[in-house]
Amino acid sequence: MNQMNKNIEQQMLINGMLVAGQGESVDIVSPHNGEHVLAINEATESQVDEAVKAARAAFAGWSELTPKDRSLHLLGIADLIEGNAELFAKLECLDTGKPYHLMLEEEIPAVVDIFRFFAGAARCMNGSAGGEYLPGFTSMIRRDAIGVVASIAPWNYPLMMAAWKLGPALAAGNTVVLKPSELTPLTTLQLAAMLKDKLPAGVFNVVFGRGQTVGAPLTSHPDVDMVSLTGSIPTGQAIVSSGAATMKRTHMELGGKAPVIVFDDADLEKAVDGVKNFAFTNSGQDCTAASRVYVHESIYDQFVDALTEAVRTIRVGMPFEEDSDIGPVVSKAHLERIEGFVKRAEALDHIRITTGGGRLDQSGNFFAPTVIADARQTDEIVQKEVFGPVVSVTSFETESQVLDFANDSIYGLASSVWTRDTARATRLAAKLRYGCTWINTHMLLASEMPHGGVKMSGYGKDMSMYSLEDYTVVRHIMISHD
Ligand code: NAD
Repeated sequence: MNQMNKNIEQQMLINGMLVAGQGESVDIVSPHNGEHVLAINEATESQVDEAVKAARAAFAGWSELTPKDRSLHLLGIADLIEGNAELFAKLECLDTGKPYHLMLEEEIPAVVDIFRFFAGAARCMNGSAGGEYLPGFTSMIRRDAIGVVASIAPWNYPLMMAAWKLGPALAAGNTVVLKPSELTPLTTLQLAAMLKDKLPAGVFNVVFGRGQTVGAPLTSHPDVDMVSLTGSIPTGQAIVSSGAATMKRTHMELGGKAPVIVFDDADLEKAVDGVKNFAFTNSGQDCTAASRVYVHESIYDQFVDALTEAVRTIRVGMPFEEDSDIGPVVSKAHLERIEGFVKRAEALDHIRITTGGGRLDQSGNFFAPTVIADARQTDEIVQKEVFGPVVSVTSFETESQVLDFANDSIYGLASSVWTRDTARATRLAAKLRYGCTWINTHMLLASEMPHGGVKMSGYGKDMSMYSLEDYTVVRHIMISHD
């Protein structure tokens, strides 16, 4: 273990105290070089129980704080992350392998903005009606906190996902037990250590561990009122099933397989550049990645050639190299999974791999940015979420055909349409069954705007006032005039 690794926070936060996990130890491995960073002990079931009890005990005090006071706490979290941006960025890159300069320039400011947005939003929550709906009685509507929220985060944007979950939950007056992914816990554990004395004990708790050993007992705990997951569909299904016993509220941000529709009147250069950026950023490990491209037959060959050239310019590199565009994928197992998808596609006679197609010849979990041309709608590579630096390209003939192709997916998170014809863009946006449709862009998010899916991509919104609604319950109060 090197000097930096010795200083990494590895304790959990339970009831305002930093405590070591008492369960099995889990290895944390850097994806870019396979270096063993450290081993962290996961929580036991009784530590999970302590965290939930602490959150329950803290709920009354936290939810009764004025919105102004909760808002001040959230502003403090934003300042703390901003003031320690380099430390958070370093830890995230060690854990995920993503480029440090992008983490610092793009992700950390977005994380900070989430807390600032919810600090403002906390003060703007309101009930929608007050009046006499029965003679002699006044009714009013309140929006109140739900209680204890168990939040489960994935590995692709660890600090950002923690922010998406913590911001609205705390703003609304809930208390939280957060479990980061067992693959990438370092920034969340660091945040926990820094917030130990900044938030009242029990308001924010962090437990570390794997899904089965720690996630499952946490999300099925009888005293948890709501579970928020960003993760895969099978995990979402397991959580919804186990939550049925105690009728938990659930908030599910699951996978995606975003269709990207490029018409013959699109700005071709812009569309190619868009797919290059929005399919491969974060090594394609993004639930909104522009991974399934449909191109009008009249520009298909030209588009595939231009995309292939563009993708060849993507610089795959180490996280702390300044010119890296993308890094490795998160784990050996994930690398093998991606490789499996590409090999199975390559085995089909009609498929052309125009660039990439395999691992890079170096240590670490590096996969070459890959373009799979001539894919057919029924191919696995078009239907399943790869979650890696791989795009499929498919030709289409008509607007109605491509609409059918795009909607023919179990997923419903994100989509985009590239055309200069506003009427056509609007028509398609109305018919695409996705939580978001971008026109002539892709993937861009704003704290004020909702993010979330339909179909098997889940339900519930992250960011925006809609997220605050999801983390609150509407209540009716009726007062007799006598
Ligand atoms: P995953 O479902 O394997 O793990 C997500 C989290 O769930 C981890 O913390 C894991 O420990 C935990 N978990 C696993 N089994 C559990 C169980 N039985 N009970 C409770 N917790 C359990 O997903 P992942 O591999 O970490 O992330 C990739 C997936 O997340 C992809 O499908 C991706 O599309 C999705 N994702 C969605 C969004 C979105 O906003 N919709 C954002 C990022 C990632």
